[in-house]
Amino acid sequence: MIGGLATFTLIHVVLSLGRIGRRASLRSSLTIPPVLCYHRIGGPLELGVTRVTRSVFARQMHALARAGWRTVTLREFATHVQRRVPASPGEFLLSFDDGYASLADTAYPVLADVGFTATTFLVTDFVGRTNTWDVRYTWRRLPHLDWDAIERWRGRGLEFASHTASHARLTWLPDERIADELGRSRQTLLGRLGPDAGRAVAYPFGARDERVERLARAAGYELGFGGVRASGSALALARVPVYMWDVGETPVGLRRDATGALGRLVASVANRCAVGTSWMLKLRSGGAVV
Ligand SMILES: [Zn+2]
Repeated sequence: MIGGLATFTLIHVVLSLGRIGRRASLRSSLTIPPVLCYHRIGGPLELGVTRVTRSVFARQMHALARAGWRTVTLREFATHVQRRVPASPGEFLLSFDDGYASLADTAYPVLADVGFTATTFLVTDFVGRTNTWDVRYTWRRLPHLDWDAIERWRGRGLEFASHTASHARLTWLPDERIADELGRSRQTLLGRLGPDAGRAVAYPFGARDERVERLARAAGYELGFGGVRASGSALALARVPVYMWDVGETPVGLRRDATGALGRLVASVANRCAVGTSWMLKLRSGGAVV
């Protein structure tokens, strides 16, 4: 029984690696730079897996800068996606999800030191508030960036985009709720930060399907970021999350070797496990989809 399970797991891993290899070649043939996705940097310990320590993050950014990596802006990234302009090998898009207030202390100053830019995807209903939208992974609730901090760091070259209005799992919602989550968030960003802030959305939990992509396009987004897998559409772009175990100088999302392929597979599985978080939130709300 265990032997059968192990064999099945091994076959699954090999098949998945093959799929990831094909996706990687698809991505490079489309000349789209790789995208890294961090969540929280430093701050209180959590029960989840998305917190990366401040020292690991600083080491990774300095190492990438030393190795010649360069971050692209969302506008540059969109050019690669829409006009098939070839990306140079050392380019990548750096992103943060959820917009925690601690980024301004733990991550952004490091980026300023090495000359990197980044896009932070904000949960717009929760700007300046605590993360009551999430399962309680930490002892105390965590604060989000407020508009003052966002505008200050925007003035220093960082970019901000949408992570929807309330971080709901879009694929579980009816059309009108999806349209509201996407549209309301985009309008808030446009009103606060101007037209460039309405370009991109990162779907919470990376959860997307063709219906979500269609509604994101209808809401006015040019770029939509999902999980580790891309579909070839500009509204279904791939990102590789950086989890707590990804402590090497080059995060697995930027590695071209077998370690990178295996690491992306693990990230893909971990990302799929995030459905557990959505179920806990659903149970907390008494079964209603939040
Ligand atoms: Zn998120």
